[in-house]
Amino acid sequence: MQVVATANSRRDIDLDIRFDGRTALVTGAGSGIGAAIARDLAPSGATVVLADLDEAGLARVAAEIAAAGGTAHVTRVDVSDAASVEAMVRFAVETTGALHLLVNNAGIGGPQAVTGEYPVDGWEEVIAVNLNGVFYGLRFGLPEIEKAGGGAVVNVSSILGSVGFATSPAYVAAKHGVNGLTKNAALEYGARGVRINAVSPGFIRTPLLEKNLSDEVLGALAGMHPMERIGESEEVSSLVLYLLSDRASFITGSCHLVDGGYTAR
Ligand code: NAP
Repeated sequence: MQVVATANSRRDIDLDIRFDGRTALVTGAGSGIGAAIARDLAPSGATVVLADLDEAGLARVAAEIAAAGGTAHVTRVDVSDAASVEAMVRFAVETTGALHLLVNNAGIGGPQAVTGEYPVDGWEEVIAVNLNGVFYGLRFGLPEIEKAGGGAVVNVSSILGSVGFATSPAYVAAKHGVNGLTKNAALEYGARGVRINAVSPGFIRTPLLEKNLSDEVLGALAGMHPMERIGESEEVSSLVLYLLSDRASFITGSCHLVDGGYTAR
């Protein structure tokens, strides 16, 4: 059983999606899925703003983008703090002139325990980052996107926004909440020029998993996907860029799985 993706799942295609003249803001861009989205956006003509709690990660990704001939603006944010998210959006608008595209991606895994033993502080932290953080992104981002004449938002949810996962009550509740927020905001902004969707990855090989799980557990997780592997960040990024782009012009308010078949069982 393979834990990592096979070579043919790696990015070797040109997505051919352009965002010339638009500003894209990505949270959690210092690592994993957010970093892949940032790296893919940079050559697309977008002006890219990267935000993360991890300033070293931000500097690393910005340097990678620069080495590939692109540019990126970076700002520190704590998405669990409303004032910090408001300042992040202000930074993007003041630095680049407008905000058109927003990816609410920052998230944490949190503790693992059954609900009756779940640490209360762990619950509060996961909800604060994974659910409140997405609300704050929408709360402060949407008025700016509307002001800029319209655009698109992608919220990074999870398969665990659609199904449960024993010992992860806070994460599951937060991601189900993200899907609900996505639908609600889409109803409100559909006629106002802003499309809002969620992407729901299966297990993806990023530091979030690799920091917390042994190879044995990663192998077991791989086996839960009919494709018998976990995914790569770039496989999520492809879908995010599509949903941000005008090619997805009639898609809003929906939650899109990118999960190697996990939820098909
Ligand atoms: P990751 O590699 O850990 O990257 C997440 C980034 O977000 C890190 O740089 C992290 O910084 C940052 N972050 C954490 N808390 C933050 C906060 N309060 N404010 C701002 N930034 C913060 O994780 P990932 O796997 O790419 O996850 C990205 C998103 O995908 C999350 O929403 C996650 O729930 C979702 N997702 C992941 C998987 C998966 O299997 N990997 C599956 C489904 C969904 P620190 O490193 O300093 O914490």
